[in-house]
Amino acid sequence: MSIYQYGPYGGAYVPELLIRPLEELTTAFETAMRDRQFLAEFDRLMCEYVGRQTPLTYVPTLSKIYNSHIYLKREDLAHTGAHKINNTIGQALLAKRMGKTRVIAETGAGQHGVATATAAALLGLECTVYMGSVDAARQEANLFRMKLLGAQVSLVESGSKTLKDATSEALRNWIATSDDTHYIVGSALGPSPYPRIVQAFQSVIGNETRAQFYQRNLCHPDAVIASVGGGSNAIGMFSGYYKDTEVKLFGVEAGGYGLASGQHAAPINEGTKGILHGFYSYFMCDEEGNIRDTHSISAGLDYPGVGPEHAWLSDSGRAKYIVVDDKEALASCIELTRCEGILPALESSHALAALPQVIAEIGTGKNIVVTLSGRGDKDIGIIRQHVEL
Ligand SMILES: *Cc1c(COP(=O)(O)O)cnc(C)c1O
Repeated sequence: MSIYQYGPYGGAYVPELLIRPLEELTTAFETAMRDRQFLAEFDRLMCEYVGRQTPLTYVPTLSKIYNSHIYLKREDLAHTGAHKINNTIGQALLAKRMGKTRVIAETGAGQHGVATATAAALLGLECTVYMGSVDAARQEANLFRMKLLGAQVSLVESGSKTLKDATSEALRNWIATSDDTHYIVGSALGPSPYPRIVQAFQSVIGNETRAQFYQRNLCHPDAVIASVGGGSNAIGMFSGYYKDTEVKLFGVEAGGYGLASGQHAAPINEGTKGILHGFYSYFMCDEEGNIRDTHSISAGLDYPGVGPEHAWLSDSGRAKYIVVDDKEALASCIELTRCEGILPALESSHALAALPQVIAEIGTGKNIVVTLSGRGDKDIGIIRQHVEL
């Protein structure tokens, strides 16, 4: 059986009892990827239900400001308002193919929980979402939305009662329930084969962008930029251009209050190598090797690790990972809203705020694609706390 590795990163560091479910999943995934009917059903739902393909929008005012040609890949226009639905529908289809009747998921801010509950409602699967009780109190609207979609939400009271504890709890539950349950991991991380599965379902982002550039009689962009939480929207965009080395790949980590403050979520830039949640990658650890608390203004980037393929893309030099702090992201969020009438998610605003750093490196006058991973409606409460109008 294949264990997916990315250089030294990735792998499957899990309890004995998870080996068999991960093997079953690997086999199901690999055969599904060769099954035309499965792929056609995924494409149909992407088109009819999610509303793909999502537009590639040229933004004239922003382009003028930055003296470049800037395009946005509009994942904010996908059903439920972000790219996460691509992955949850793909994995829910896999669950059905394996004969599972129930799915589980972890969630921090609730975005992956909502996307999972949505896919479960669509495909008639039972759904339980694990959420730290601290996160649940902060994200009441998403908590209610998941319940409205028919999901059960299981509050996690261990540890810091946030995303990493919810992830540990979901893995624990899966050990006991894997006969009838599939665990839908929410980003390009977790034990093998998850990073590969999530990359496969999110690659629709990069593949569409590639085709949309050709349709405009352009060859390739000079650079693509995407925000990196666990790394799923970024890996989806990057995988359209892996082999085209003339396309520069930029991932953007959350700088929080600044790298110097220690309060951020930038494990590639300021982390150490280690193992958590079943995979080897960069994580934010203290001197004793314990996972540190993270901070970002955007909940979706607030995870102490990063998907293993990004760790390798960074080490190998194929992609570059830069840092944008809370203030810069917020300013870019407001800038895009005012200039172009598009309110981006705070996660996506990190990618936008990286434009000056990217242009300093590649020069002006270039074609740049920014992945607009989601819409900002969910963030209005937070934006409001920082802006006086
Ligand atoms: C969850 C989320 C992210 C970060 O997750 P990745 O797996 O790194 O893509 C980015 N943008 C939005 C809108 C999100 O909801």
